[in-house]
Amino acid sequence: MAESEIRRNPFTNELIIYSPARQKRPDRKEEYCPLCSGSKEVPVFKKPLRITNKYPSLDNREDFKKVKTGTFFEKSNPYGFCELVVYTKKHDAMFIDLNEEEILAIFIEWRDATMDFAKDSNIKYILPFENYGEDVGATLIHPHGQIYGFPFIPPIVEKEFNAAVQYQKERKQCMVCDYIVAEKEEKERIIYEDDHIIGIVPYFAKYAYDVYIYPKRHYGLLHHSTQREMESFSTLLPKVIQSVNSIFNKKASYSLSLNQSPLNTPGSAAFHMYFKIHTPQRNKESLKLLGAVETSGGTFINGTLPEQAAKSLRNNLE
Ligand SMILES: [Zn+2]
Ligand SMILES: [Zn+2]
Repeated sequence: MAESEIRRNPFTNELIIYSPARQKRPDRKEEYCPLCSGSKEVPVFKKPLRITNKYPSLDNREDFKKVKTGTFFEKSNPYGFCELVVYTKKHDAMFIDLNEEEILAIFIEWRDATMDFAKDSNIKYILPFENYGEDVGATLIHPHGQIYGFPFIPPIVEKEFNAAVQYQKERKQCMVCDYIVAEKEEKERIIYEDDHIIGIVPYFAKYAYDVYIYPKRHYGLLHHSTQREMESFSTLLPKVIQSVNSIFNKKASYSLSLNQSPLNTPGSAAFHMYFKIHTPQRNKESLKLLGAVETSGGTFINGTLPEQAAKSLRNNLE
């Protein structure tokens, strides 16, 4: 019996996941850690490993179907996948404490999960991510990431995807490939570049220190990365988070995610994948909280120009 459900907002066509079981998740201050070696979930830690989320928002126990239809009150069962990836046996470590080889091993688990979930024709989008810290709602201290397999394309990705498909149709080019060229001409928002990847505070960043990291080659899914590209991501991502921490002189809460191409959807080859690093921290003292302009209008007001943020991130990148 599924405890969660997916409801449709008929006014915006957005889907919302309701998951009352998540209220029972452990408090991060509890002493027992389910991700430490010796626990039921992780008897012996040898390398990063995937485990099923005990409090899943989405699961595949029942076939994907609408359980209620109608103009206003449509809902589906919460079909999908939710897994955790345990990063290390060190309970108090952070992602940024891990070496390049350990981080590469994590991304290999993200990659393999993407390949596994993609075999299910109901899955439309796979999101690997990590939430670190209380300010982005992390409930477990032990270093870990998560992977969600959605039966729909989440709205931000859907908007980006539609723009990419339209651009491809009109100009026969990838929008992101062209965007990278344009950012390279302007230079000032680039924080890092090597032969394989490029890190940018996008011209249109919603939050002060949003960073997008693109492969220079065009592809949409992590398992299309070469070894070299995977190594470049593994080197740069912790450095960007370190740079954010140096700016704020603290371990800032952040989320790290991989925005991949939609699956089982026509036109998906137009999508160019990227990693996204986001922190709600807007200066040393405070977080960006959402007010009416953002929550009612959906329009963000950002007090920091992306060019300023890129300069600080570049200066603090070691
Ligand atoms: Zn632990
Ligand atoms: Zn591209």
